Amino acid sequence: MAMTSYRLHRPEALRALTRAMITAAGWSEDEAKETADHLVLANLSGHDSHGIGMLPLYFNSLADGHLTPQAKLSIRSEAGPFLIVDGNVALGQPAARGAVDRAIAIAQTGGVAVLNLLDSHHIGRIGHYSEVAAAAELISVFWVNVAGRPPIVAPFAAKQARFGTNPISIGLPVPGGEPLILDFATSRMAHGKARVALNKGVTVPEGYIIDGEGRPTVEPRHVFLQEGLPLGALLPFGDHKGAGLSLIAELLSAGLMGAARIDQKPHKTWIINSLFGVLIDPARLEPDAALRQQRIESYLAFVRAAAPQDPSQPVLAPGDKERKMRIERERDGIPLDDETWSQIVAAAKAHGVDAESF
Ligand code: NAD
Repeated sequence: MAMTSYRLHRPEALRALTRAMITAAGWSEDEAKETADHLVLANLSGHDSHGIGMLPLYFNSLADGHLTPQAKLSIRSEAGPFLIVDGNVALGQPAARGAVDRAIAIAQTGGVAVLNLLDSHHIGRIGHYSEVAAAAELISVFWVNVAGRPPIVAPFAAKQARFGTNPISIGLPVPGGEPLILDFATSRMAHGKARVALNKGVTVPEGYIIDGEGRPTVEPRHVFLQEGLPLGALLPFGDHKGAGLSLIAELLSAGLMGAARIDQKPHKTWIINSLFGVLIDPARLEPDAALRQQRIESYLAFVRAAAPQDPSQPVLAPGDKERKMRIERERDGIPLDDETWSQIVAAAKAHGVDAESF
């Protein structure tokens, strides 16, 4: 496979381009800003799979009429700590941010919020919402399913896919410090990372993917729908453990409430997320913030002091890697491969926006 080249882009230019594309397609300035900030922060964090390379997919959904600027989230019910929100397949980043902001207000008042956001369009990097909750000094636990697509992750010991990449994110604020943000897909590799590898023309490491016959492969094309090629699967992380978490995420986020599930009616250009979340005010557990800080930081210091297997790879805590990457990419720019950029240019052009002018 030939490796394609890439160009470095300034984050502010990519934000401006994304805002221009989204407003040109009919969404409001606020929705465009929320989406642009979210996507570019994903790139800055090193998660290109959830950065502005998603825009062409969103614009395909728009072109097919599956995603519309008119769709908005609506509150289904709010009672005590419980908040149930219909996503109505609205643009996901602003929809999920709206639902999480409302849940934050509930948790800040009553100490806890239980949120179920149902049937939003793709909501992006789930750790984003844990960072938002942590900035409001709240613990968060989010479970998410992925529907509207064919199943793409195999259950443990299976040759065929039955799950989405069903991510989980947990955020723990540290008083006076940076939060712990543990955020990952329950597949060994996020599907978007296979897309990035496909666009770059590179293989993926062994042990991540099986082909349509269930055989191990390193070719990312096997996990994308293509004429004449049976769809393969990503493998779950941690064998039966990741597979079990994925199954629970499907039922907790969408299954219990009858929202879109992975085994129902796949739409080629739709990516639907439902989210189950719990937000907790840690001050209701330990009111003394200084004590909380000291207890978390002393344990983190103990963990970080473990001797690394490879001296060039220090032992990290959840969230460290993304913060380090943000510093590097703010300084050096965000790399986008030629294929991803040409898809963005084409999606922008369809709405009269010249991506090269940003
Ligand atoms: P990943 O494998 O890169 O894991 C990221 C997590 O592991 C982070 O918490 C990070 O801080 C931590 N981490 C990374 N390297 C570490 C190290 N060396 N030591 C200690 N901790 C380390 O993540 P992923 O599974 O590729 O997921 C990428 C993104 O995709 C996530 O943001 C996820 O929310 C998102 N996602 C979204 C959807 C969706 O439908 N919306 C679906 C799947 C995944």
